[in-house]
Amino acid sequence: MARRKKIYEGKAKVLYEGPEPGTIVQYFKDDATAFNAEKKDVIEGKGVLNNRLSEYFMTGLGNVGVPTHFLKRLNMREQLVRSCEIIPLEVIVRNYAAGSMSKRLGIAEGTQLPRPIVEYCYKDDSLGDPLVTEEHIAAFGWASQQDMDDIIALALRVNDYLSGLMYGVGIRLVDFKIEIGRVFDGDFQRLVVADEISPDSCRLWDIESGQKLDKDVFRQDLGSLTDAYTEVARRLGVLPKQSHQPTKPTLIN
Ligand code: UDP
Repeated sequence: MARRKKIYEGKAKVLYEGPEPGTIVQYFKDDATAFNAEKKDVIEGKGVLNNRLSEYFMTGLGNVGVPTHFLKRLNMREQLVRSCEIIPLEVIVRNYAAGSMSKRLGIAEGTQLPRPIVEYCYKDDSLGDPLVTEEHIAAFGWASQQDMDDIIALALRVNDYLSGLMYGVGIRLVDFKIEIGRVFDGDFQRLVVADEISPDSCRLWDIESGQKLDKDVFRQDLGSLTDAYTEVARRLGVLPKQSHQPTKPTLIN
């Protein structure tokens, strides 16, 4: 079999050309990075968990009518997605203050916000993904006004879906980041949720104890990242209930 063509390698994933035109294979690595890749490690099993969790969230979103790039999971570490043109923005939705917002505005971590707040960062690692406003986005042509309306609507629908899902398993969705892609159907373009949705890109706190179940465990050296992600997967039923085996997740088909 011919070697697949690598299209792009990022911090946590590799993209390969897919088997059909217009498709891409997303491979989830075990690499974890934080603080713009100043902190790095390899966390055994993270890629397998994120592949399953992202499949779970994207499939659920599709089932409630939110378009995503997800087509199907191929194996433990790979999924087939529609190829799309990624809008160069990180779209962040916040329900509770945390992370950079707490630092920037001096709001205590965990403070509930009066309503979900949508923020945008310009995707550029060399600049540290700076926060930008809709004025920058319009002026530099990264997205049109119609795109922005669609992006906000998509982001808030993802927030409603994920918040409810997490609340049901005793987890608070503090904030998350999504990326949006354009797919082209003939002359028409539409926007879809792309990239991944996983504990790498969300803040997830246990409602009872406040325990962190997301990448902050790695950022802040709070313990085993695999155990935290396994706990999220187990509560959502992505892993069998009894199989909480630290650092060695057993996955069901
Ligand atoms: N986030 C992400 N990728 C980034 C930056 C942020 O997935 O490059 C996520 C992060 O995990 C959190 C949310 O976006 O769930 C808000 O992050 P924040 O702006 O507070 O930045 P941080 O404190 O993580 O640097």
